[in-house]
Amino acid sequence: MAGKGLDPIFAQGSAPGRSAIAVIRVSGKLPASLYSELKINESKRSFFLRELDFGNFVDSCLVLNFPAPNSYTGESMLEIHSHGNQLIVSELFRWLEKRGLREAEAGEFSKRAFLNNKISLFQAEGISLGIEAETKDQLIALDSFRSGVLSKKIESIISQLNAVLVELEAQLDFSDEESVAETKSDVIQKSLNAVLVELDGLLKNYAPYEKNSLKKRVVLVGRPNVGKSSIFNALLDEEVAIVSKVAGTTRDVVRKVLPLSGFEVEIEDTAGLRSETNDEIEKTGMGLTVKAAASADLLIYVIDNAKEVVPEKFKDHSLVVFNKCDLGSPPPSFSGLKVSAKSGEGIDLLLEKMRNLATSSSGQKLVSERTHKKLEDAMKIISKKVVGADFFELTAQNIRDANQELKEIYGDLDNEKILDQIFNNFCIGK
Ligand code: GDP
Repeated sequence: MAGKGLDPIFAQGSAPGRSAIAVIRVSGKLPASLYSELKINESKRSFFLRELDFGNFVDSCLVLNFPAPNSYTGESMLEIHSHGNQLIVSELFRWLEKRGLREAEAGEFSKRAFLNNKISLFQAEGISLGIEAETKDQLIALDSFRSGVLSKKIESIISQLNAVLVELEAQLDFSDEESVAETKSDVIQKSLNAVLVELDGLLKNYAPYEKNSLKKRVVLVGRPNVGKSSIFNALLDEEVAIVSKVAGTTRDVVRKVLPLSGFEVEIEDTAGLRSETNDEIEKTGMGLTVKAAASADLLIYVIDNAKEVVPEKFKDHSLVVFNKCDLGSPPPSFSGLKVSAKSGEGIDLLLEKMRNLATSSSGQKLVSERTHKKLEDAMKIISKKVVGADFFELTAQNIRDANQELKEIYGDLDNEKILDQIFNNFCIGK
């Protein structure tokens, strides 16, 4: 007896580096000798503590046995938990190689799971994007994609389209009877319009996942020398922007991602807003400032003089920050936030405001880019206007094409290359 599946593969499932334990996954048609060497009953779903002898040293490992088909891949699988040191992991890799196993390609476990009907392509992508997500917002927004809520909606659209297709095919058999056909084409168009409304709703509700989607942008704006670059640096706790006494030194928009307890906020330090400048480069910088400000989620308008009036165009969603409070406080009537980039006073509060912004969900939902594109393509095909004598035939073909696009979301693909392209984007060990 030997394990079930394709050629045996292995990969580290946990992140490389030092940790209490490292998890190495093994899947495929595992040699019978491996089970006997490990003293594991191949068909017993259980866990075992085993001393693995690497020649020069021994590591005590926990070995989990998942007999096929009750495993992630649907093949015979082992999970070996060694101690979390890359030196031990690489010894374990050599140990497995000597026993005829090879290191897995990126996404190979998930590809096998898909080929064994354990997960749909849709779910596989959901898992992969869940791992890639960089903010909690992204995880929340991916939830209906990952949990299969969206997949149910798409299934329902496919079955609605199939019902129309049945109607159409029946009509094709009676296409001699003109009058019947005419009323029927109206009914069919109506059913298709209903599907279009649903597809349109999905496309409006779901945006394609990109690395930066949902990342909140914070923009620092203010007159020259009020201390924007200094606040920027204080926030980042590192020297990124140029700090200088000469007005207008920050000519470009400096972008930096700020990790805030798991969330990321982009900060832009913009060129000073002077009403008069003859410097062409600085003028360009000011153009960028206004543009960056217009699309910001949070605008921080920095002043160092309480008398300064915030320009009308920045009033809307901006937080006024009075800087240099180490030199003197603003009057009690000042309703904004007072900080000192120099002493650090108020910087924590400012970070807190950003953190609140970063964790507020926009309610937008996400899907993989591929799924979004397929939904768009299906919508385009069904939207095609069909008139004339061939209405039934052409509409039937459009429905078949649209259904194909939708089915490909699940992985109804016969093209191995496309499949590989999708899974190659996964991380190793997944
Ligand atoms: P920006 O043009 O708005 O980016 O201003 P900078 O960050 O380049 O700062 C202009 C000047 O103000 C520099 O000399 C800074 O050292 C100084 N400065 C910035 N923040 C503070 C602060 O909180 N207190 C004091 N005393 N000086 C500051």
